[in-house]
Amino acid sequence: MAEPSLQSPFAEVRWIWKNGELVEFEKATVHVLSHALHYGSGVFEGIRCYQTPDGPAVFRLPDHARRLVVSAGVYRMELPWSQGQIAEAILDTIRANGLSQCYIRPLVIRGFSPQGLGVNPLRSPIEMIIATWPWGKYLGEEAQERGVDICVSSWCRPSPNTLPSMAKATGNYLNGQLIKMEAVTNGYAEGVALDPQGNVSEGSGENIFLVFGNTLLTAPSAASLLPGITRDSVLHIARDLGLEVREQSIPRGHLYTCDELFFAGTAAEITPVRSVDRIEVGDGRPGEITRRILREYLAVAEGKAPDRRGWLTPVGAPVAHSVP
Ligand code: PMP
Repeated sequence: MAEPSLQSPFAEVRWIWKNGELVEFEKATVHVLSHALHYGSGVFEGIRCYQTPDGPAVFRLPDHARRLVVSAGVYRMELPWSQGQIAEAILDTIRANGLSQCYIRPLVIRGFSPQGLGVNPLRSPIEMIIATWPWGKYLGEEAQERGVDICVSSWCRPSPNTLPSMAKATGNYLNGQLIKMEAVTNGYAEGVALDPQGNVSEGSGENIFLVFGNTLLTAPSAASLLPGITRDSVLHIARDLGLEVREQSIPRGHLYTCDELFFAGTAAEITPVRSVDRIEVGDGRPGEITRRILREYLAVAEGKAPDRRGWLTPVGAPVAHSVP
């Protein structure tokens, strides 16, 4: 068996955008007394840039930039950058690093305030970074071909009036970490969490879809989930393919009785699920509808199918950047 590559995904990343300028990778640091480190006060995005026949292009960039701004608003963070400026800064960062395809991580945090470090974040300054790096298949190279084994987590999602799941906040991911650690410790690729009522919510970093015949089901945003941009893309693609689509409460039991099951998220893209709690989904192989949606999703993202909804933003040619 080939040795797994030990090369860091950051090896070729030279520039990180920080508070309005590109700085060298090693200089993109924050103070240890930053509010976000102590209290989880950050909001972020996860975006992918794909290699297309016309050069690199970012998938659904305005939607991601908008969600970042909206997430910041929930936490009363006053961003000195507009949605459009954030989108431009993302493109600048990709061009400076000369990447043809990458994952993009914008992050807004409450930084260090010389006035103290109480829970109240309102006096802590806003800091923002944008990092880019090459990132392969999130749930493993074979995940999309063969499907993954998952479990139902013993951890639930927080109830709606504890943490707003539609804001993509760093603090939410402590719950996500519990779900993910439990799953991988027990030999699963991922865990799916229930909402506080015991209905299906989402994976630690993906939304989930169930297929019954020609009908696609996914949980509603009231089920303590992040309404993902990939989820929205799947809803569009499925309707285009003539499938019936329903957003509705899904009892846990349906995870064991559906014909097909798949995750949807920027990092995971579309990943088929082949078993839940060691119970096979369908015949234990990715189903036909899942494979059609995966094919269509990648075709649009990789610029191989017409971009009828304007989901791709071209990055343009790499731009050499040097230390100012
Ligand atoms: N739920 C959670 C908890 C996530 O972290 C993600 C990844 N951002 C998703 C769903 C999928 O969202 P998107 O399709 O916008 O990446």
